[in-house]
Amino acid sequence: MNVINPATGEQLDSYDEQTWSDVDSALERASEAFEEWRKQSIRERERLLETAGRVLRNNKNEYAEIITLEMGKPITQARAEVEKCAWVCDHYAEYGSTYLEDRHHPSPPGTTVKTVHQPLGPVLAVMPWNFPFWQVFRFAAPYLTAGNVGVLKHASNVPGCAIAIEDIFREAGYPEGVFQSLLVSSDLVADIIADDRIRAATLTGSGPAGRAVAAAAGEKIKKTVLELGGSDPFVVLDDADIESAAETGTQARNQNGGQSCIAAKRFVVHTEIYDKFIEALIDSFESLVVGDPTDENTDVGPQARVDLLTELHEQVEASIEAGATLVTGGEPLDREGAFYPPTILTDVPDGCPVDSEETFGPVAAVYEVADEREAITLANNTEFGLGASVWTADRERGEHVAKQIDAGCVYINQLVKSDPRVPFGGVGESGYGRELSEIGIKEFVNRKTVWIE
Ligand code: NAP
Repeated sequence: MNVINPATGEQLDSYDEQTWSDVDSALERASEAFEEWRKQSIRERERLLETAGRVLRNNKNEYAEIITLEMGKPITQARAEVEKCAWVCDHYAEYGSTYLEDRHHPSPPGTTVKTVHQPLGPVLAVMPWNFPFWQVFRFAAPYLTAGNVGVLKHASNVPGCAIAIEDIFREAGYPEGVFQSLLVSSDLVADIIADDRIRAATLTGSGPAGRAVAAAAGEKIKKTVLELGGSDPFVVLDDADIESAAETGTQARNQNGGQSCIAAKRFVVHTEIYDKFIEALIDSFESLVVGDPTDENTDVGPQARVDLLTELHEQVEASIEAGATLVTGGEPLDREGAFYPPTILTDVPDGCPVDSEETFGPVAAVYEVADEREAITLANNTEFGLGASVWTADRERGEHVAKQIDAGCVYINQLVKSDPRVPFGGVGESGYGRELSEIGIKEFVNRKTVWIE
C-alpha cells in the first residue's frame, strides 16, 4: 500500500498488505478476546473508553498531522475531527450503561418480561478515508462499549490512520484483540465476512462497496449497517435569512474539500430570493482559501487522490456539456497536488452528473424553483436519502417541509452534521441502519427477551 500525499504528489510511506494468514490470526485473537471482553462489566468498558478519549486529546496534533498528510484535510479541520472522536468516547463512557439498561415490558401478573442487550461478537468495520478517525470512532466507541470486539478494514490510502487508531486503544489499556486494524485490500472483505468468527459487519462508503458487503453478509445471514453516499438538498425558501444561508451553505459544501457524505450538494432556491442568494453564495465560495492543508489559514485542501479529482472534473465537464452554466471554479488548479476550486453550476439539467450522481468534492449544483412544492419535489428527485437542510424564518413551515423530504435527517436553519447524541443514517441508496445515540449502540446487540414466570 503506497501512501501518496495528495497536496504534493509525493510518496509518504509504503506498507505490506496483509495476507489471509495474518487475517486468520487476527480473527482468532478477536474471537478469544471477545470471550473475556463480554464478561467485563460495562463500567470497566466505559472507563477504558474514557481513557481512549484522553489519549486522543493528549496527542491531538500528532493524529491530526497523520490525517492531513494522508488525505489532505486542512489541519484545523483534522484537529477538530480528533476532538470529535474524543467527544464520542466521552459520550458513550457516560451514557453507554444507561442506553443498554434492561427494558421491562407489560406482562401477565406475577411474571417479569424484559429485554436485555448482549454483544454479538467480533464486528467487521469497513471504513472510508474522508473522516479517517471519526468514522472509526463512531463505530468503535458504542460497539466496543456494548461488549463487541472490532476488526477494522480501513481505506487503502489511510493505513497510517488505521495503525494510529489501533495504538490508541492499546495505549488506553484495552486488552489485546479487542480492537485490531487489518491492512488488507477490499478483495478479502467478502471472505472475512464469510468467516464464522465475524458476527456482523458495518460499512461506511460508496454504493458499490455497500452492495458487496451486504451481499456477502446476506449469504451468511449476518447483520449489517450501511452508511453510504448522499446528494443532500439545501433548500432555501423565500423567507430565509439569505446571508446566513449562503455562509452556512458554503461551509456545508466545501468543508473537508467537499468530500463529505452529508455535504450540501444540490442547492434548491426559491425564485423570490434566487438572485440575492446566488450572489452571496458566489462571494462566499470565492472568498475561500484553497491550498496547503498544513497551513492554518487554509479552508479547502486537495482532493484525497488524483483519480478522485479526475472523476469530479469529468462530472463537471459532462454537466456543462449537458447544458449547465459554470459560474465559478470548474478547472483543476495549475499546481502540484490534487487541487480543485470551489465550483458553482447553475441551470442544471435534469439527469446530468451533478444532478443525479453524488459529487464528492467542492461542486455545488444550484436550482431555481417557483415555490415550496417544487422545492420539495426537487429535493426528493434523487435515489439518495441521507440528509437535507431547509432554510426559513418560520420554524413551523420548516418542520412541515422537513416531514415531506425523504431523508434520514433534516436540519432546519442548520447544516447537516453528525453528533454523538443524535441518530445518524440514511434511506434509499444512502443505506440503512443508524449510528450514534441510543439507537446506534443497539444496532449490534442481541436484544434478548427474558420471560420469568
Ligand atoms: P469506497 O471506495 O466505497 O471505500 C470505502 C471502504 O470500502 C474502503 O475501505 C474500501 O477499501 C472498501 N471497499 C471498496 N470497494 C469494496 C468492495 N467491493 N467490497 C468491500 N469493500 C470495499 O468509498 P470511499 O471513496 O472511501 O468513500 C467515499 C464514499 O463514502 C462516498 O460515497 C461517501 O458519501 C461515502 N460516505 C458515507 C458516509 C455516511 O455516513 N453515510 C460517511 C462518509 C462517507 P479500499 O480503500 O481498499 O478500496
